[in-house]
Parts: sequence; C-alpha cells; structure tokens
Amino acid sequence: MPINKTQLISWLKKLNTVYTDKKEYLTELDAAIGDADHGINMNRGFSKVIEKLPAVESKDIGTILKTVGMTLMSSVGGASGPLYGTFWMKGGMVLADKEEINSEDFFKFIEAGVGGILLRGRPNLGDKTMYDLWAPVLEKIKECADNGDDVSAIVDTILPVGEKALADTIPLQAKKGRASYLGERSIGHQDPGATSSFYMLETLKEVLAS
Ligand code: ADP
Ligand code: MG
Ligand code: MG
Repeated sequence: MPINKTQLISWLKKLNTVYTDKKEYLTELDAAIGDADHGINMNRGFSKVIEKLPAVESKDIGTILKTVGMTLMSSVGGASGPLYGTFWMKGGMVLADKEEINSEDFFKFIEAGVGGILLRGRPNLGDKTMYDLWAPVLEKIKECADNGDDVSAIVDTILPVGEKALADTIPLQAKKGRASYLGERSIGHQDPGATSSFYMLETLKEVLAS
C-alpha cells in the first residue's frame, strides 16, 4: 500500500518527538567533531515544522513537503538547515498534487531530495556526511522500486542498509563541513547528520508498521 497523507503527517509528528528525544545524543555526536549544535538544530527545526503543519495538512503532499523544507531552511541554520531544507523542498517538487506516495513516488522523492543535498553540499562519497547514509539507501530504494516492491517492503529493506551506512561513517575522515577542520581527529566518531538522516528512515518504518 502507498503512504497516505495521515501516515505522512504522523511521520513528521513522530520525527519531532524523535528529534526532541535525541536532542542531547545528536548534540553529543556533534560535540565530538563539530560545534555541538546538531541536536539543537534538528529539534528547533522540527518544532517549527509542527507549528506550520495545521495550515497545510489538508493540502497535497508536494505542498506539505515543500513547507517542511522551507521551514527547516528558515529555522535551522548551519550546514544542516540548507541541506535538509533543500532535501524536503526538492522532494516536494516531484510530488506536486499527490495525495499518496507509492513506491515509484517514494524513489522519486528520495532521489530528488538526495539530489538537493548534492547540489547544496557537493559531498563526495566517503566525506563523512549525511550523503554517506543516503547514497546506499537511494541505490537500494531504486533496486526495490524496480522490483515492484511496495513502500513498506522498501522501508523494511533499506533500514539495515542505513544502519550499516551509519556505522560505516565512524572510521571515515571528514572532508566536508566543520568536522573536516579536525582532519584525522574526526576518525572514530559517527557523523551527526548521517545519524539524524537515519532517524528519518527508522521513524518512517515505525509509522508504516503501526
Ligand atoms: P553545522 O556543522 O553548521 O553546525 P549541523 O551541526 O546542524 O551544522 O550539521 C552537521 C552535519 O551536516 C554533518 O554531520 C554532516 O552530516 C552534514 N554536512 C555538513 N557539511 C556537509 C556537506 N557539504 N554536504 C553534506 N552534508 C554536510
Ligand atoms: Mg553543528
Ligand atoms: Mg553550527
């Protein structure tokens, strides 16, 4: 079954709860290799998203996603604000006028979103950023969508891929963002942005399973 609008709204609301619960953890991860604000940034951004939701939740999915993006863009700041802002805005653009998200739409959404991250941040694979989470996940989504899998099956399949990609950021040396200033000292820590991106997948799985 496709993701319906109720599930989409519930995904965004749950994400707000998750970023509230994980605020300290994400900030700790960022304290090790950045400026100790990633949890604060994500929490602030999604609280704003929740404030904006009532005004758009009856609109099409494209409008909802674009609102998420614009809200994050204007409230988060730092590196992750423009990156996540662009992710959701680009994703919203390819889902204009949609009332549900089938597996092909889901692939297009994530593909466009990851395209936005690439455009904004110019990360390369292995630079220890959120892109290191999204690249293998996107590849797996494409494979599953081409196979004709439905969205919940796709989300189930990508979760372990994301989990591995997240752990794989630990031994990397950061080449982009603040963590890159640390050079070799960035090795041995999990990337905060890849972690907050993983929560998007984990939370979506929870929503689709409930
Ligand atoms: P800031 O570094 O400005 O304080 P955050 O702490 O909110 O912003 O976000 C840091 C995260 O942003 C990093 O962990 C990384 O995943 C991501 N990031 C930083 N720079 C880039 C980039 N150029 N491309 C992709 N992702 C990036
Ligand atoms: Mg930071
Ligand atoms: Mg910062």
